[in-house]
Amino acid sequence: MGKPTGFMEYSKRSVPYRDALERLGDFREIFTEADDAHLKTQGARCMDCGVPFCQSDEGCPIDNLIPEWNDLVYQGRWREALDRLHKTNNFPEFTGRTCPAPCEGACVLGITDPAVTIKNIENAIIDRGFAEGWVKAEPPHKRTGRTVAVVGSGPAGLAAAEQLNRAGHTVTVYEREDRIGGLLMYGIPNMKLDKAVVDRRIDLMRESGVRFVVNADVGNGVDCAELMAQFDALVLATGATRPRDLEVPGRSLGGIHFAMEYLTENTRSLLDSDLGDGKFIDAKDRDVIVIGGGDTGADCIGTALRHGCRSLVNLELLDQPPPERADDNPWPLWPKIHRTEYAHEEAIARFGADPRSFAVVSKRFVDDGNGRVAGVEVCNVRWQRVDGRFQMEEVEETRQTLAADLVLLAMGFLGPEAYLAEALGLELDARTNYRAEHGPFATSIPGVFTAGDCRRGQSLVVWAINEGRGAARAVDEFLRGSSRLPAPGLTLGTAAG
Ligand SMILES: Cc1cc2nc3c(=O)[nH]c(=O)nc-3n(C[C@H](O)[C@H](O)[C@H](O)COP(=O)(O)OP(=O)(O)OC[C@H]3O[C@@H](n4cnc5c(N)ncnc54)[C@H](O)[C@@H]3O)c2cc1C
Ligand code: SF4
Repeated sequence: MGKPTGFMEYSKRSVPYRDALERLGDFREIFTEADDAHLKTQGARCMDCGVPFCQSDEGCPIDNLIPEWNDLVYQGRWREALDRLHKTNNFPEFTGRTCPAPCEGACVLGITDPAVTIKNIENAIIDRGFAEGWVKAEPPHKRTGRTVAVVGSGPAGLAAAEQLNRAGHTVTVYEREDRIGGLLMYGIPNMKLDKAVVDRRIDLMRESGVRFVVNADVGNGVDCAELMAQFDALVLATGATRPRDLEVPGRSLGGIHFAMEYLTENTRSLLDSDLGDGKFIDAKDRDVIVIGGGDTGADCIGTALRHGCRSLVNLELLDQPPPERADDNPWPLWPKIHRTEYAHEEAIARFGADPRSFAVVSKRFVDDGNGRVAGVEVCNVRWQRVDGRFQMEEVEETRQTLAADLVLLAMGFLGPEAYLAEALGLELDARTNYRAEHGPFATSIPGVFTAGDCRRGQSLVVWAINEGRGAARAVDEFLRGSSRLPAPGLTLGTAAG
């Protein structure tokens, strides 16, 4: 521990975002840069706990060596901090920007004080690493002659590909989109994760020997049987891309879109033409209703605000979470509390009020007479626990129609699309995800492995990296009989050449 009294001397200060109104004028990242002195002070708050709960099962899913790099940052030993960080995390620049940081929820300091700013420190280490030119391509010393196809280029597929390449296997990543990155590219918007940051990492992977094939839809254009014959193993990392729909009257009206259609088209147009080609759903001067909270809903809010929407409402079916941890949600569990995310802050700055309404059910979409949506009929609900299960009761007298000419559905995802599993003859689990245990990551077909949201259901970038690393080790074991690849939950090893 750099400074034994640091946690008593310094209070938590997160690196601030750019001013909310200013950042609404562009799609650049919301973050500001932290100076060394600030980070050193924040690193000094770490107590180097005998049992570092930040690294426990409730904390970081990829076993990041948090107290070690907190100390190294305090001492100004950035290069070593970077090496420690890369031991467990292939892509700290993605988690440093987007992770909700379960490590901070589990931090011991959080019992009595605000937790250590772990995520800020992680991000600063990797940004410094790139700025100093320390992050370089790492081609393996020798090749094994074995080949692996990875289907899907989100964080799970990328982590699996990088690890398998490090182990010396020849890896090809197939992606059906026109750009690599999965939801890192088309999903999480630019203001949360600049796409140049994604491309920078892909370029390094390419330089290290990973092959990428875009516009390659496996099971729909790219033949599964050919892939099975051509490669020694397959890793399916296709994500949970099937959106939950809202099947109420009026659903087929114009102006109602899934969130991912809205977010994907926006980012594609932004990257292709700085929105000049007009190939996106424009929220400018529209009354927008986003149905569904969560990350996806927040990102729709942030994007609609940047388009210049006229009004904005966000409807959430569940109750508003409490401001502090409830009794059944103690430390070190992830705190289920009401949070004001970047996009909510921006809506408050633009319109003077939080756009979220909780405990509201959407009953039907209202027609404007020309086949387009003119509003959403809604009703407040009361949630009650009956025989241990939550039940919803509508409060009829609250029924009303909210005006909207653009509605975005952000109600979560229902697992992977069916066509690839059907083409391969793959077993699914009860939630229609690809069936495989965490650890072996083996599907019902020998030689076919799976990782990320398509296996575990909609989750987080950090869990996708966890699964990608784990699946890579499982594939390496399958190909060689044993593996020295490190994986979350296992003693840290080194990548075998
Ligand atoms: C809008 C949004 C915002 C989010 N924000 C955050 C956040 O801030 N922080 C966080 O931690 N998590 C966030 N998440 C969740 C996170 O992005 C996902 O958990 C993570 O990306 C899952 O990674 P993955 O590799 O399993 O799948 P994905 O990232 O979904 O990648 C799967 C890829 O597979 C491709 N694919 C699918 N089928 C085929 C096929 N047959 N052939 C070829 N390619 C195929 C898809 O095109 C896609 O590119 C967000 C999710 C969404 C939707
Ligand atoms: S739990 Fe918090 S204070 Fe303890 S080692 Fe981890 S980051 Fe430091």
